[in-house]
Amino acid sequence: MVRNDGRKEYELRPIRMQTGFAGNADGSVLIEWGRTRVLCTAMLEERVPPFRAGTGQGWLTAEYAMLPASTPVRKSRERAVPDGRSTEIRRLVGRALRAVMDFDALGERTVWIDCDVIEADGGTRTASVTGAYVALCLAARSWQEKGIVTANPVAGAVGAVSVGIVDDTPVLDLHYEEDSRAQVDMNVVMTGDDRFVEVQGTGEQRPYTPDELTCLLALARDGIARIIAMERAALAGDPQ
Ligand code: UDP
Repeated sequence: MVRNDGRKEYELRPIRMQTGFAGNADGSVLIEWGRTRVLCTAMLEERVPPFRAGTGQGWLTAEYAMLPASTPVRKSRERAVPDGRSTEIRRLVGRALRAVMDFDALGERTVWIDCDVIEADGGTRTASVTGAYVALCLAARSWQEKGIVTANPVAGAVGAVSVGIVDDTPVLDLHYEEDSRAQVDMNVVMTGDDRFVEVQGTGEQRPYTPDELTCLLALARDGIARIIAMERAALAGDPQ
């Protein structure tokens, strides 16, 4: 099978992370992942949800939305209530980042992550996790510099990627055209120490075998290792 953008099965789209994109945020990244582009920001609020009050521990919560012109068919602007898909994605982003947080080091504060999709071409949730992680690390750096926290509240790395089966072939990092005809669609979140945070895999057009699952997880694992290396490079200020 030839992918219509010329990639091999195991290749990622080009990924670029532009840091410091939103001046008011404590940390911000514009992540460009092929044609998918997401603005990710991290900001701090000096209070916690009621279930954390008095525990000494903080919390992290995430929001996700698509701008109206992020999709070929205009997506109506979400008002007070986000749609089901956005709610599912914001919860995924929150879970992914909470997996690497040290909430004792954060203290009783809430980190707000916002992911706003400027252009969607598949993989917006995995781009959101990855971009938000870099924004979070930049924010944590600024909180340490300002003396708001003494220890780094980010205790590890996390990254995410999509994999799937298209034309009976397992592939890494599906763009929209592949996603829309994928037989199997999977999103994987892993930590920098090679552990899974989340695996969501659906047989959209047909069930998949244990061997196919093994193959998809191997593709994802390899892709995420490269994505985490790119996160490190972005945080080190290396040109991308
Ligand atoms: N999409 C769209 N309109 C929508 C939702 C999705 O055009 O209301 C497109 C968009 O390109 C998105 C892709 O479908 O990136 C795949 O959506 P999915 O829900 O699988 O999430 P994603 O792959 O973006 O994480």
